[in-house]
Amino acid sequence: MSVETEKVHPAGQLENFDVIIIGAGMSGMYQLHLLRKLGLSVRVFEAGDGVGGTWYWNRYPGARFDSESYSYGYSFSEELLQEWDWSEHFAAQPETLRYLNHVADKFDLCRDIQFSSRVVSAIFDEAGTCWDVALEDGGRARARFLITAIGPLSVPTLPKIEGIEEFQGQWFHTGEAPHEPVDFAGKRVAVIGTGATGVQTIQEVAKTARHLTVFQRSPNYCAPLHNSPIDGDTQARIKASYPEIFAKCRASHSAFLHKADHRRALEIPAEEREAFLEKLYGEPGFGIWVGNFRDMFTDQKANDVVSEFVIRKIRQRVHNREVAEKLIPRDHGFGTRRVPLETNYYEVYNQDNVLLVDLNETPIERIMPSGLETSGDAHDFDVIIYATGFDAVTGGFDRIDIRGEGGRKLKDKWAGGPRTYLGLQIAGFPNLLTLVGPHNAGTFCNIPRCIEQNVEWVADLMGYLKDNNYTCIAPTAEAEDTWTEHVYETASELLMTKVDSWFNGINPNVEGKDKRTFLLYAGGAPAYREKCDEVAANGYEGFVLR
Ligand code: NAP
Repeated sequence: MSVETEKVHPAGQLENFDVIIIGAGMSGMYQLHLLRKLGLSVRVFEAGDGVGGTWYWNRYPGARFDSESYSYGYSFSEELLQEWDWSEHFAAQPETLRYLNHVADKFDLCRDIQFSSRVVSAIFDEAGTCWDVALEDGGRARARFLITAIGPLSVPTLPKIEGIEEFQGQWFHTGEAPHEPVDFAGKRVAVIGTGATGVQTIQEVAKTARHLTVFQRSPNYCAPLHNSPIDGDTQARIKASYPEIFAKCRASHSAFLHKADHRRALEIPAEEREAFLEKLYGEPGFGIWVGNFRDMFTDQKANDVVSEFVIRKIRQRVHNREVAEKLIPRDHGFGTRRVPLETNYYEVYNQDNVLLVDLNETPIERIMPSGLETSGDAHDFDVIIYATGFDAVTGGFDRIDIRGEGGRKLKDKWAGGPRTYLGLQIAGFPNLLTLVGPHNAGTFCNIPRCIEQNVEWVADLMGYLKDNNYTCIAPTAEAEDTWTEHVYETASELLMTKVDSWFNGINPNVEGKDKRTFLLYAGGAPAYREKCDEVAANGYEGFVLR
C-alpha cells in the first residue's frame, strides 16, 4: 500500500505514510493502535501538545463526564480495564486526561504522533491516489489514506460582540481554557452561555467567586447528575462486570447504560407516570433523557408531561419566583436539546453572590476593558468565561481546506448540509474516512462506544484493502444519496429537528450556520452497527474498490 510516486515540496522533506490521521483524541489514538497492528505506517497530526482531544482542550472549571466513567473508557483491552480505577461515577476532566495519557503510554502511541501540528489543508492527488496534507507551520506529508479523527465539538465559537479583545481582565472560551486551574476566590466572574458546558462551569465557579453573573440567552432543561465516589467494593464489582456493562451499552439506542422505556407516556396512569419520572430524576446520569418514555422524542403531548415535571422541579429548587421563571425554557421541550446534567445548578441561583441576567430583556451591547455593558447596565469583571459552544460536527471539516476529485472543496459540497455514506465516507473524496463524522451514529452516542465501532470497522476495511491489493475506495453517489435520505427520514419524526441547536447545525456565531439541517444519525447505535457490518459482509457494498 505504500505510495510510489513522491513529490518534494520546497517547504522541506515530504514524508510518506500509508495513513495520516488528523487528531490524537480518543478516536485517533485507538485508530493508530489498530492500524499499526496491521503493519501500516501511520502518522497522527495533532494540534495540541498532548493527547486527549476534547479532554485535552476542555479544561474549564467543573468539566466532567455525563456518562458513567466505566461505560466511557476503552473496552478493547482487558488489562487496561482491570488496571484503571475510576475515582467517581462521573469522573472530572483531569482524571480523564490522566487516563488518556496512561493509554498513550501503555500502547506507546506518542512515537507516531506529531504534536503542535495543525492540519490546514488536505488535497487529493488523483494521479497518485493519495492525500497531500499541509500543516500550519509549512510542514507537509502525504499518505494513501486520510482519516479524520477531529471530534464533533472541536471548534470553539466566540459570540460576535464588539470589544472582546479589549477586556483587560482574564478571559477564555471553555473549549480553550487555561492549562492551569483558575482561582476564582475574591473575583467577579461572568459566564456567558447556559448549555451543558455553561452549567458545569457556573455551578463550579459559584462555589468560590466573590460574585458570579450568568448571562443567559436561552435556558435549558437541566437534570441532576447524582455523582458520587466509587468505593473499593464498588470498584471490584465494576471490574468484574465489564462484559455486562459493555453488553448493556451495545444493546441501548445511544450506547449508554440507560435503556429507553417503550411504554407510551400518556397510556399509563398519571400517578404511575409521576413515580417513574421521580425515579429517573433521582437516579444518576442520563436515564431521565435516554431512559425516559421513548415517545417523549416524537409526541408533543408526551413531551409536554415530561417537560412539565422538570419545570415543577425548577420551581421547587429556585427560591425567587422571578428567577425560576427565567430559568424555564419556553421555546422547546425537555430532551429536544442536549440535557445538561448538574449538581446543585439551580440552587446556585439561591446564593447571594449570583446574579442571572436574561439577555432577552437586556442584550449585551459591548465588551469593555473593565467588563461588559448590556442595554440595561454596566458590569465590571475580573474574569469573563465564554461558554458559547462550538461550530459543531462540520465545523472541524470547514476549518481544513479539504479538496477531493476535480479539486472540489468539501465545504462547497456540504454547503446545503452534509452528505455521506454511513457518516464515514464521501462521494468524490476517495480514501478519506471520517470517524464520528456527520450522519455517523457516533454523533449521538456515548461516544467512546461508537468510536470503538467506527475505528474497528475502518481497521477491518484497511486490512481488507491491504489483503486484496486495493489502493482506492470511494462510495457511489447512489449509496451516499440513499444513506443521506435514510438519515433525514429517521430524524423526520423527532421533535429535536424542530428546535434550534447544534444538533441541527445552528450556530448564530458562525457565518452561514443559520439554516436547520441535521448533523446527527438518530437511528441508534445498534442499527448503525448492523448496517456497517452488513456493508462489510457484502464485500463493502455501496463502495467502489480499485
Ligand atoms: P451549546 O450547548 O451550544 O451552548 C452554548 C450556549 O452559549 C447556549 O446557551 C447559547 O445560547 C449561548 N450563546 C451562544 N452564543 C451566544 C451569544 N452570542 N450571546 C449569548 N449567549 C450565547 O454549547 P456547550 O454548552 O459548549 O455544549 C456543547 C456540547 O458539548 C453539549 O451539547 C454536549 O454534547 C457537549 N458537552 C458534553 C459534556 C459531557 O459529556 N460531560 C459536557 C459539556 C458539554 P442559545 O442557546 O440561545 O444559542
